[in-house]
Amino acid sequence: MLFLCKACNVKFEAEGEKQEWLDATFGPCSKIVAACPSCGVAADEYRAPKQSANAPSHGHAPACGACCGGCHH
Ligand SMILES: [Zn+2]
Repeated sequence: MLFLCKACNVKFEAEGEKQEWLDATFGPCSKIVAACPSCGVAADEYRAPKQSANAPSHGHAPACGACCGGCHH
């Protein structure tokens, strides 16, 4: 599984672990995180940008991890 540390802007391979939390807006959320080998901060799973031509360019689906992945409550 590939992860992206936003702090270091580095992609790295890791097993990762599931993190669950309750978001005020989105409710129960979960995502896979892994500690960055450089800074040790939990990094989100890296998702390649979708290439689909059908997706609206302003698309901002209310999916957990996409919108509230930056929450650190
Ligand atoms: Zn890092």
